[in-house]
Amino acid sequence: MSDTIERIKCLIIGSGPAGYSAAIYAARADLKPVMYTGLQMGGQLTTTTEVDNYPGYPNGTDGTAMMEDFKNQAERFDTEVRFGIATKVEFDNSVGGIHKITIDNSKIIEAETVIISTGATAKYLGIESEQRLIGGGVSACATCDGFFYKGQDVVVIGAGDTAAEEATYLANICRKVTILVRKDFMRASKAMQHRVEKTENIEVMFHTELDEVMGESVVEGVRVFNNQTDEKQTLDVTGVFVAIGHQPNTEIFKDVLDMDEVGYLITKGKSTKTNLPGVFAAGDVQDNEYRQAVTAAGTGCMAALDAERYLGSLA
Ligand code: NDP
Repeated sequence: MSDTIERIKCLIIGSGPAGYSAAIYAARADLKPVMYTGLQMGGQLTTTTEVDNYPGYPNGTDGTAMMEDFKNQAERFDTEVRFGIATKVEFDNSVGGIHKITIDNSKIIEAETVIISTGATAKYLGIESEQRLIGGGVSACATCDGFFYKGQDVVVIGAGDTAAEEATYLANICRKVTILVRKDFMRASKAMQHRVEKTENIEVMFHTELDEVMGESVVEGVRVFNNQTDEKQTLDVTGVFVAIGHQPNTEIFKDVLDMDEVGYLITKGKSTKTNLPGVFAAGDVQDNEYRQAVTAAGTGCMAALDAERYLGSLA
């Protein structure tokens, strides 16, 4: 390990809407933030096409372009945006303590405050045709991409609250939504299941799994199979929404920060404070409920304000 050490006031880990919003606010508060972007610069939004639900873009924008705007705005206020990933953390648990974060297994950052905005990663099934068609009709976000399937037929894969919620959202836009459930029941809350049952253009296929997504560059249908009878059938759909859960990107914080059973960081009350002083969490890494760019940006702003107030309280 190299001995490059740098001391800063505010380190931001992750470059989605939460990270950049934190950066804009932290920079304007003169915390001279340094951001490490992570491998996927710009976060999950760079995997979607058009973003039509972020306020301020009346004609919609493209996810990657929007994150470039976020980055430019953060840099305008002298945020230092660096490509790299945090590989190890040694957080101090005393008020006013210095947190040590190793970047790319080599450089050490000593930070007075840390804002964690490492996001979450949508889970996919992992089959070849599904992976190939991500962005070409396969999506893990109905609120991001559902609009493009207006009047069309789509499938949703999963049986939890996300699947039920995505299906009812899509049912308002699409002609027909078919939910593929691998067991003989949905694990979504009863209330969500009632909504699904009451929605006329949703069909639930139990004991049914995806075999293949058809199409070369865009989805032209799916082949599914009944896992009891092995019977296969083709569904004529143009969109495939995978809703089998998200995995928060919190591996390096295990046994260090409080997290729930899935791995989402736990923040205190309405704040972005974690269980350690000077360490804050914003965006999807601490939110398994709303998971929107605009809510992530909101908590990013909160994290910067929390960091600023924390430093102010030490003075
Ligand atoms: P969950 O982990 O609750 O559900 C994932 C679903 O995906 C399960 O039904 C699971 O099936 C299914 N699944 C997993 N792997 C596969 C696979 N390989 N093939 C087919 N199906 C698969 O994740 P959610 O994202 O739905 O929810 C996460 C948390 O967020 C939950 O606590 C949920 O309550 C909460 N949430 C709350 C909402 C709200 O209150 N409005 C909205 C959305 C989420 P199986 O059942 O067979 O294991």
